[in-house]
Formats: sequence, C-alpha cells, structure tokens
Amino acid sequence: MATSRKKKDEIESLKKLADQLALKPVCVWDQLDQPGRREAENLSREYIEFLSRAKTERAVVREVARWAIGRGLADLSQTDGLKAQKGGFLVHHGKMAGLYAPGQKSPAEGFNLIVAHGDSPRLDLKPRCVYEETAPGFGMLRTNLYGGLKKFQWLSRPLALWGFCALKDGRTVDIVFGEDPQDPVLTIPDLLPHLDRKAQRDKKISEAIVADKMNLLAASIPLGTAEDKDRLKLAVLKILHDRWGLVEEDLISAELEIVPAGPARSVGLDSSLIGGYGQDDRLPVFASLKALATARPIRPALFIVYDREEIGSYGSTGASGNFVEHLAARAFEAAGLPPHWDKVRLALQKTWAISADVEPAVDPDYKEVHEELNSGHMGRGPCLVRYTGGTGKYGASEAGAEYVAKIRGALAQAGVLWQSSITGKQEEGGGGTVALYLAAYGMHIVDFGPPVLAMHSPFEISSKADLLMTARAYAAFFSLS
Ligand code: MN
Ligand code: MN
Repeated sequence: MATSRKKKDEIESLKKLADQLALKPVCVWDQLDQPGRREAENLSREYIEFLSRAKTERAVVREVARWAIGRGLADLSQTDGLKAQKGGFLVHHGKMAGLYAPGQKSPAEGFNLIVAHGDSPRLDLKPRCVYEETAPGFGMLRTNLYGGLKKFQWLSRPLALWGFCALKDGRTVDIVFGEDPQDPVLTIPDLLPHLDRKAQRDKKISEAIVADKMNLLAASIPLGTAEDKDRLKLAVLKILHDRWGLVEEDLISAELEIVPAGPARSVGLDSSLIGGYGQDDRLPVFASLKALATARPIRPALFIVYDREEIGSYGSTGASGNFVEHLAARAFEAAGLPPHWDKVRLALQKTWAISADVEPAVDPDYKEVHEELNSGHMGRGPCLVRYTGGTGKYGASEAGAEYVAKIRGALAQAGVLWQSSITGKQEEGGGGTVALYLAAYGMHIVDFGPPVLAMHSPFEISSKADLLMTARAYAAFFSLS
C-alpha cells in the first residue's frame, strides 16, 4: 500500500517537474473556446475573400491602399511634410506599399516594423507571347516561369489571366480573365499517360516538364478562310483588341500573369483549413492589416509589402532597395520632424522588426525532410524562426537572443500560442526571406509567420487556428514597447 502511494507521488512530482521545465507543443484548437473558434471562422471567411481578390502583387497593393484610405490614412507621397495625424501610406510603382501608424513615442526612437511580400510564384506571359500551331490548330500563348514552382502542378488545370498593360499614350489597361464563373479559363494541356514514356515518365521530375513547353491554349477558331495565313494567331490578337483594345506591340509593355483560376476555399471535412493560391505571402499581409486595425502602438508602427521576394528581392520594388528609408522619412515628416538621413538611419537601427513570411509545415506524407523537433506544425500557431538560410546558416540573418526574448515576452503577455521552428533538415535544401535586407540597417529582425503546407503550389494550405493566432501575434508585436 505504502509503496504504491510512494510510486504515485513520484509520478505526480515528475509530471509537475515536466510541466515546469519542458516546452510542450500546444494545439491551438484545444485552447480555443467557442467564441475563439467563431472568431477564427469569421476571420477566415474575410481572409478567403481577400485571397480570392488579391491574386497578383498589384492586386495586393491595391487592397492595402484601399484599406489605408478606408481608415482615413493620408497618401504620404502627397503630404509635403504636412502632419498625417492618423498615419499614412506610400505606394511605389503600384507594386510595393508601406503603411505608417503613429505611436505615443517619436519615430526618432525607432519603429515596430512588419515586412511581408505580395508576389507569389506564377507563370508570366513572355513579351512576345502570341503564336500559332497550325497542324493541331491552336492560337497559343508562351509563358515564362516566375519564382520557385513545381512545373507539373500547373498543367491541365483551369488558369486565369491577370494583366496590367501600359500603352504608348500613357493609358493603362487592367485585365482579369477567367475568374468570373461565366468566363472561360485558360489551360496548359499535359501529355496523356499513354504516350509520355520517353517525353516525361522515364525522366527526373525536374526535367520531365520543359518550361518552354508550358504554353497556353488561347483559341481554336481560325479567322478568314483556308487560303489565309496566320489565321489562329490573328484570332488571338483580334480578341485581345476587341476585349481590351490592345495590339501585339502593347504586350511588350504589359505584365500578364497566369494564376490558378477560381476562389480560395475552406478545406477538410471539419472545414478547419484554408486552401488557396498565394498564401505565401498574402496570409501574413492580411494578418498584419488585421493586427494594425486593433493594435494601440506605443512605438510608431510601419508595415511594408514588398514585391519580387520570390525571385530574390531584386528590382526597384524589391526588399534589396531602400524603400524602408523613404517610408521612415515620410513618417518623420508626418510627425513634424525634419527627415535628416542620419536621424532616419539611426531610427532604423533602433527599429524592431518581424519578417512576416510563411514557414513550411511538416508534411504528413514526407516527414523525413523535416527535423520534427524544430519544424513548424500546422495548428500550433505562427512559427518564430531564429534563422532561415541553407546548411551552415549561410545567407541567414540570425536574430539575437535578447530580441527573441523580447518577442517571447510580448506573446506571453498577450496569451498568443506560437511555436519555434527552422526550415527543414540541414543538407535538405533551404530558403530565405527578406529579413537580411532589413538586418543590413542594423535593426533587430526575426522571421515569424504561420506554417503552410504545399507551399508554392497552386493550392497552398493553412490552418484557420494559425491565421487567428498570427493576427493576434502581430497585434501583440505592434503594441510592444
Ligand atoms: Mn514567402
Ligand atoms: Mn515563397
């Protein structure tokens, strides 16, 4: 009797010790009461609509600008140093956006900054894209890969065309084709399995699909009569002209993007997940806007949506540029401070930042590529990632321990559920975010975003519970002082 009680006490005290000492994974769903679950569902509904509307980097920036204007924020490119009491926004080249929300403290003391990106892997149309294949009888469109995508995922599925054309006379034309359920869609037909042995099946998966064979079916009704030439190419050009007033040369100054057609959806028998294109990195964009709407910043807040992240952050709208300096300078002006560069740079050095990018979730069918103890698990909240990069931490802007501790403190205070992760096993690949470009200013920055399954696919998967916790986590960060 006595020994069994002793045994029971031992087990009890070990359990207490474990509760006290060990970090245990927490399933967000276990911790959400009914109102919490309802909040996750309502937020997801709004997010699914956002994701379905914002299918290109320009569309994301339009959503951000609309959000800002709807809240009475000033266009900081127009204020000429006038105070923007409620804060302001800045759009660069229609593809990169910044927001500023004043806090109780001066911008000179540093900002709380969240950066995300609005571009996602996709197919672009080449500048000269219209051609025809006469024997099968198709007017076709040539594509160009953008970002790290798995080519086979884009074949034999409904695709939509989102375009922006700039004309010689200064006019611009916006195109959305294939999204309205009444619209036709575009598609790239894959080769049938009966005849694919030499062309595809016996090859490595990365070589089985050739990028320059990923061409879209655009038309099959020829113009004119059998004696006429280029009848199918002309058929395509005529439609481009009739619908949008374009001629072939206009396509050279156009950004024509091919994305999966149709809206984002709830996923799972229990509807607990969200499926849709472009969640990398539009989930963090949406969560940041939600966070800004509820946060009461003490230190002034900045939010940036970069473009070009998926191809290395190069270009005039990428994070390798100095947009953050200009946004910070406009924030100085809005607060009535002269935007001297040394002061602005000093403020950036004192800035605390989050690179709000999604993280790979442990794939239930490919657990072997993850080091499970240090991987992001769906449904356990956003992932705090001290370092990204490849094997040996190459290319990583590792966050300092003091800063990670500060973030932990803010999350604990706000009751946010989160997890710690790094990207996959060593020597298995790797990946980076924009964090290193911001770290170059000397600011503290850490990667922090929700886990996503099937990342870079036409149908990425996230968790409604993680969306809720990510929005709460970013709000806690904006309130950090
Ligand atoms: Mn990303
Ligand atoms: Mn990505």
